[in-house]
Amino acid sequence: MNVHSVEEVRKMSVVAPATGKVIAEIEETPVYEVPFFYQKARESFGNWSGLAISERIRYLKNLKQLMVDEMDQIAKIISDDTGKVLTESIVADIMPTLDAIDHIIRHAEKVLSRKKVKTPLLLIGKKSFIEYMPRGVVLVISPWNYPLQLAMVPMISALAGGNSVILKPSEVTPLVGKCIEDLFRRSGFPEGTVQVAHGGKEVGAAFTAGKPDYIFFTGSVRTGKIIQQQAAKDLIPTTLELGGKDPMIVFDDANLDRAVKAAAWGAFTNSGQVCMSAERLYVQKSIYGKFLEKLKKEVNSLQQGTDLDSDIGSMTFPGQKEVVKAQLDEAIERGAKLETGLKPSDWKGDMFLPLTVITEVKQDMKIIQEESFGPLLPVVPFDTEEEAIEYANGTVFGLNASVWTRDKAKARRVASRLVSGAVVINDVIITVANHGLPFGGTKESGIGRYHSEAGLRIFCHEKAIMEDMGFMKSEIQWYPYKGKYPLFLKLFQSYFAEKRDWLNFAKNYIALLKRNK
Ligand code: NAD
Repeated sequence: MNVHSVEEVRKMSVVAPATGKVIAEIEETPVYEVPFFYQKARESFGNWSGLAISERIRYLKNLKQLMVDEMDQIAKIISDDTGKVLTESIVADIMPTLDAIDHIIRHAEKVLSRKKVKTPLLLIGKKSFIEYMPRGVVLVISPWNYPLQLAMVPMISALAGGNSVILKPSEVTPLVGKCIEDLFRRSGFPEGTVQVAHGGKEVGAAFTAGKPDYIFFTGSVRTGKIIQQQAAKDLIPTTLELGGKDPMIVFDDANLDRAVKAAAWGAFTNSGQVCMSAERLYVQKSIYGKFLEKLKKEVNSLQQGTDLDSDIGSMTFPGQKEVVKAQLDEAIERGAKLETGLKPSDWKGDMFLPLTVITEVKQDMKIIQEESFGPLLPVVPFDTEEEAIEYANGTVFGLNASVWTRDKAKARRVASRLVSGAVVINDVIITVANHGLPFGGTKESGIGRYHSEAGLRIFCHEKAIMEDMGFMKSEIQWYPYKGKYPLFLKLFQSYFAEKRDWLNFAKNYIALLKRNK
């Protein structure tokens, strides 16, 4: 029972970033309620985990249908809360969520069902299986840039496996958090199976300390490290999906027009607030000048705004503007050249930042080494394949990358040498859209993978089971050992020989069995 007074509940004002207007107020979850959330989640876990996967899938089907019916309203909520244009809300946030639900509906039963695996001959008479047992209560903490899919995809993956889920969505986009809560409630999920706690880092920290059975975190490297430290205290397993500084490498034999359009979209979609944005563009010297001219023309043709035909909306989080500003100021001070966009001192002051292509940057600048998460695109020329790979691998991140060339062998060779969770050839970002592929980072871009089969199994304990009929009185490797050593020696030598010696294997096995009598 909640013994605290209503006055203690804090409210968060929701400001639409594109207009600066307050559009709602949302109650923050008081941290004293954290134990009640966990209690409820644990109570519901018993029933939910006891359902057959096919029964849990029925709830996901309800959820999917509701989202299809209300797609337009959901897109508007996302756009109001983030400032992104409606086209991006539907294409890059709602569609991937629905596709993930679809994928899970089609594959979860097969992926999470008990599986028979081979039993080696040395273990004659036994059968082996793998079972997937839900972990319990999964805590999902999500960011603001794709507030729907980055919360819902881990949630539905965990739910399919039989876990109950607590979501702590970003305080920067609380309307979407409310919308998710409402969608699950109206899809009929049992009480306590899905709960949403609203608030910022204090609320997130309180839930992290509340001892969930698994933490799925998407957000910055800084917060990821804090969460991993807290989780380590109680040996709580985690998945961390963190930042990126993705390189795009364009060789001189690439389809230039396509690469130019891809660079503009890859860098500026969602105002560059994409963990897999093209954040560094490396172009081979022989085409550098031509490429840059085409890129400037393309970028200058893009429309920023809020109407249906706009290409790029506003930034979402005011704090992110400061990160972009600091990187740009340092680069300009150290001699970098603006090809498009404005100096930060000339910015208008609203949340629409100029789309900035910048050259003459150095590898040790923040703009190359740190995540920008904004509409900045530094362009750097390179000479050789080796140099491009060295540049691309030269940061602490490794989330996604792209390689542009018509030479398939070169593309695959370079892709294989990039230290990156994913690589796209002649396209950008798109690996994330295939739910059959694993998603996750290397180095400081994160720990673990989701999407794909792995994304369902991480939320389960993988349990090994062996069955014996239990007819025999004893096993050959049990006591007593008397007289068994020479028989085992011959048994293993015959078994592991380059060409198996079946005769000696059988002879010694039978001799060992007789010793058991
Ligand atoms: P953030 O780390 O500031 O916040 C993410 C979430 O963590 C929010 O819900 C926040 O309230 C919560 N949080 C903050 N401090 C916490 C604490 N001490 N304990 C528990 N929870 C805490 O990140 P952000 O600014 O919301 O998101 C942007 C970052 O997310 C970027 O770095 C971006 O690259 C990354 N990101 C990664 C992926 C990916 O899949 N790899 C996807 C999207 C965004």
